[in-house]
Parts: sequence; structure tokens; C-alpha cells
Amino acid sequence: MDEKRDYYEVLGVGKNATEDELKKAYRKLAKKYHPDTNPGDKNAEMKFKEASEAYSVLSDANKRAQYDRFGHAAFEQGGGGAGGGFDFSGDINDIFDMFGFGDMFGGSRSRSSNGPRSGASVRTSIRVTFEEAVFGCEKDLEVNVKETCKTCKGSGAKPGTSPETCPKCKGSGTILYTQQSFLGTIQSQKTCPECRGAGKIIKEKCRDCYGSGYVANRKSIKVSVPAGIEDGQKVRIRDMGEPGINGGERGSLLVEVRIARHPFLQRNGYDLYSSAPISFAQAALGGDVRISTIDGDVMYTLKPGTQTDTKVRLRGKGVPYLERPSVRGDHYVTLVVQVPTHMTSEQKDLLRRYDDAMNDRTPAEPEKEKKKGKLFGK
Ligand SMILES: [Zn+2]
Ligand SMILES: [Zn+2]
Repeated sequence: MDEKRDYYEVLGVGKNATEDELKKAYRKLAKKYHPDTNPGDKNAEMKFKEASEAYSVLSDANKRAQYDRFGHAAFEQGGGGAGGGFDFSGDINDIFDMFGFGDMFGGSRSRSSNGPRSGASVRTSIRVTFEEAVFGCEKDLEVNVKETCKTCKGSGAKPGTSPETCPKCKGSGTILYTQQSFLGTIQSQKTCPECRGAGKIIKEKCRDCYGSGYVANRKSIKVSVPAGIEDGQKVRIRDMGEPGINGGERGSLLVEVRIARHPFLQRNGYDLYSSAPISFAQAALGGDVRISTIDGDVMYTLKPGTQTDTKVRLRGKGVPYLERPSVRGDHYVTLVVQVPTHMTSEQKDLLRRYDDAMNDRTPAEPEKEKKKGKLFGK
């Protein structure tokens, strides 16, 4: 494989480029190299993909931070196999949608109806628990996979018959319209309404696929959810999308991962946050307290005189980095001193004596108590 170019270099921006500068740079490149403006130009297509990839990483603060730290290594050894390295990138098509390009690699457009076209991506989603997202998991998923109909071998025509060339478009799938306007004569190409772009018309349809040439097969597949994935990110499974057209490759299945909430942990990027109660005595005297983490309970030694809302960091108890599970974020714990609400008279008495000792007074007398009651009572 060729050396990958630096993402900043690809976009022609500095390392400190703002979100806006990135967007502008990407927009410019995307326009220049867009396959629609460079039909059949492989170099332009490569440049376009390169820019899209660079932008999809740098426009995401988390991924940009990872990239700044680890370079391309941050996204290598993608789980998807061939040609991978970019599997949990979020969806490149999302970026196209953002700029109104539509489903570029989705094949839903009829740019050239006779060349090979990749199949469209198929989207679905799965739910995982908080822990499953943190540590990664494998999930079973049932999907409908569109496959060539065996009965008609994909022609859509009843066995023994064959599709006929569309008389309206003569098999091209498109029709040229000529319009007169104040700018002169405008020619536009539209999908043939007779054959809907197929170039062929099926007189007698195959009964198994109703003329579509495809049947849907339910398949169960395994989805590997990588450790560290964030809510809304997608796992791309190659060759599980729509079939390609005219020998084009199959599209991908994009599985959006939805993460359930955790009862007491919050997540921000690769760090986790929670609060833990400590007693007043523990706070004052110090000592070991039990803190719940994603790895189970750990003992933490408090310093004497710990104040409420003290934040402590449990290093490496956070979320594993995507694609680098040996590196983990941290877990920040806010220690909250609990004020007792239900106390026995003995406990109250001890606390009064403690209070007096702290204020250097002689221990409280029962009468003193009564006086106070009269002063403040009704
Ligand atoms: Zn069929
Ligand atoms: Zn036609």
C-alpha cells in the first residue's frame, strides 16, 4: 500500500486549522475532485476519497485528537478486512449529505447506466450496553440481504423469456430532453420513464422476484463492536449492502451503534465520570473508601481532611481508545461528603460533644440544651 499522506497536508491546512478552515478547504477540494465533475477520472476519484477521509477525521474533535497523537496508526488495522483502515469512520456518505452531494457511492443515481456501479449502503442499528461499548462485543444481527434471483438469474424475466431492449431509450436508460430557455438551448439527461433507467423492459416477469431480479434472504451475521466505540458511530460491514450493478461491487452494511445509559457512570470521549459518597468521618480522618468503576470496585485511600466535591482521578479506568485498546482514558470521581440525616440520640450526643470540642467549649450540659430550646422554640 502507498504511504498515506498527512491529513492536514491533504486538505492543505495547518495543524491549528479551525473547524471553519477545515470545512472550507474540504469543500473546495470536494468540488474540484467530485466524481460528477470528473467522470471516469480515477485520479480525481482517489483525491476526492483522500480529502473526504481526511476531513471526516479532522472534523471530529475526538478523532482529530487521536490523529494528532498517533497519526494514521490511530485508525489502522480496521476490523473490516480488505482495504480497511477506515471502518469506524462515521459514514462518509454523511459528509456528502452535508454538502448535498447525495449518496455518492450509493449507486442510487443514474449517472452512467451501463458502467459498473457499486451497490448502495444499507443502514441498520443495534443497541449495546454501556459496558459492551466500553469493552467491545460481538452481536448477532439478522439482516435482509438482497441477492440475485436464482430462478431468472437476475434478469427479472420469466424463465424461457428474456427482457427486451426498451424502445423509448433504445436501451441506454436515459433520455435527452431539449429545452429552449432565455439562456439558449438546454439539454438535460433524464432517467427513461419507460424502463426506469434499466434500458430493458420485461414483458413476462419472473414469479420469484416479481421482475426485480433480486430476492431478499434473511441472514444472521455477527457484528464486531470495537472497544471504545461512541454512541452513534457506525460499524461498516463490507459486502452486506445492496448488490452492485453491472458487475460493480456490493455495497456495505452500516450498523449504527446505540449505547444505553449507565446507572452511575457518565462518559465523555474516553473519560468516565461518577460521584462517590464518603462519610464525614472518612473525609476528616482519611482512609480507604470503596469506589465503583467500570472494572469493578477499587479501594481508594483518602487524604485526611478531604473536602466535599474533591475530584480524584483513577488513571486508566476509563474507556479504551478505539483501535488502541491498550490505552485507556481516566475515571474522574467526585467525592461527596454525606451529612447524616437519621441519628440515634447517642450519635447526636457524640456529635454535640465533638462540636464543643472543636469550638473549645466545655461539654454540653442538659440544661443548656433546654435553654436553647426555649430561645428558638415557639
Ligand atoms: Zn427472478
Ligand atoms: Zn427506457
